[in-house]
Amino acid sequence: MIKQNKYTISQQRSKCIGCGVCCQLAPDTWHMNEADGKSEIIDSINKKEWSVGQILETELSENLKAQSECPVKIIHIQQKTV
Ligand code: SF4
Repeated sequence: MIKQNKYTISQQRSKCIGCGVCCQLAPDTWHMNEADGKSEIIDSINKKEWSVGQILETELSENLKAQSECPVKIIHIQQKTV
């Protein structure tokens, strides 16, 4: 099995305007929460106003696009230190 680097992805969810760009660009990582109309990182945990999840290297490119296209710049990606 090939070992992949993992990355932490976080979203300042309180500031999400629900435009859906992240869901369109990286549908394996993001989905819309119909209850409040904001996007969510799939399998994320909440830390205060931040939603935090993990992505693999194969998912990095599309999530970097989502990070750069998010109109309110609330997506952050960091390589995990193991
Ligand atoms: S691109 Fe940004 S503002 Fe738009 S739904 Fe995703 S996190 Fe929210």
